[in-house]
Amino acid sequence: MCAEKWENNEEINIFREYLRIPSVHPDIDYTACVEFLKRQANSLNLPVEVVYPAVESKPVVIIKWLGKQPELPSIILNSHMDVVPVYPDKWTHDPFAADIDEEGRIFARGTQDMKSVGTQYLGAIRLLKASGFQPKRTVYVTFVPDEEIGGILGMAVFVKADYFKQMNVGFSLDEGGTSASDVHHLFYAERIRWVLKLKVDGTAGHGSLLLPDTAGVKLNYVLNKLTEFRDSQIQRLKNDQSLSIGDVTTVNLTQLSGGVQSNVVPPLLEAIFDMRLSITLDLVAFEQQIRDWCKEAGGGIEIEFPLKEAFVAATKLDDSNPYWMGLKATLNELKLKVKPIVCFAVTDSRFIRQQGIPAIGFSPIINTPVLIHDHDEFLKAEYYLNGIEVYKKIIPNITEV
Ligand code: ZN
Repeated sequence: MCAEKWENNEEINIFREYLRIPSVHPDIDYTACVEFLKRQANSLNLPVEVVYPAVESKPVVIIKWLGKQPELPSIILNSHMDVVPVYPDKWTHDPFAADIDEEGRIFARGTQDMKSVGTQYLGAIRLLKASGFQPKRTVYVTFVPDEEIGGILGMAVFVKADYFKQMNVGFSLDEGGTSASDVHHLFYAERIRWVLKLKVDGTAGHGSLLLPDTAGVKLNYVLNKLTEFRDSQIQRLKNDQSLSIGDVTTVNLTQLSGGVQSNVVPPLLEAIFDMRLSITLDLVAFEQQIRDWCKEAGGGIEIEFPLKEAFVAATKLDDSNPYWMGLKATLNELKLKVKPIVCFAVTDSRFIRQQGIPAIGFSPIINTPVLIHDHDEFLKAEYYLNGIEVYKKIIPNITEV
């Protein structure tokens, strides 16, 4: 009975239609998303443009709501169109059917991350337009590709395009986290992502001997040092309850390779580490520490960084940031509980911040199991509609700044 209750809800239908587009990695064809969003723009009577900052297959859809003072810096309401892969046999519902169950839960990949936010922006604009509201600042609702694979052919190039410069962006809102409690997780910064690759040379020979300076012994030394460092971060989290995972540095050995046969000591072993560096970590000193450990291990270790992101300053959450003050006023008015945190992973907001533009990650998803990238991802229909009401309040407060 409950499921039928939602069948005729226009906003729920729009959301479910978007969810049914399988814009899932790998090799996404974004055509259906673009067509869907163009229709949404038309239904809102707003102009829409599609640009291709990287390649023809990676569109960015931009819906423009002209402000009364378009010369002022604009606001971006951003979301990504892509979703991560699914293991369909682990789902109790087809991940691209957007079924609604008796409790009003809508099951589909992208319900939390983050198609919901994209169509909630549009739902809020629909309500605001109906009420006769026109923003002071121009609002751009942007839909970007490939966030889930690092945004390299998406937001990373879009922020460098002429089109983006002409948008004169003053502030951006993008995805936050899902919260299992009643406290929203709001992202104002992200950790810095490094990938460390060690190519460890050593003495090769027969597996029956005790040869000096083998690759295994050297790698063991560095691995121990990195593990001790990792333990120190676990301790920091334990000792200070106010810290969350985004406040510490994580180091994880993710790939190991080398060797040809069990009785041959190999001349080379390779190890790859995923590192997410705290924004308070001294990056220069940390890199030097890694280099010192490799020397202490006996040398002959080649250090590579296949990925080495630069430091990006956090978005300020104080009265020097008028957009934050506008957002904060709304959150207070709605009596929403919010905990500002450093995002534990990365999102497209980092590319916006790199341009010196304040960016905040916020998703109005609380009291919901965190199923981002997990099986049976769902969002309750009533929470989805409530999110539209939240954006209906947020948008005027950040555009009137
Ligand atoms: Zn996402």
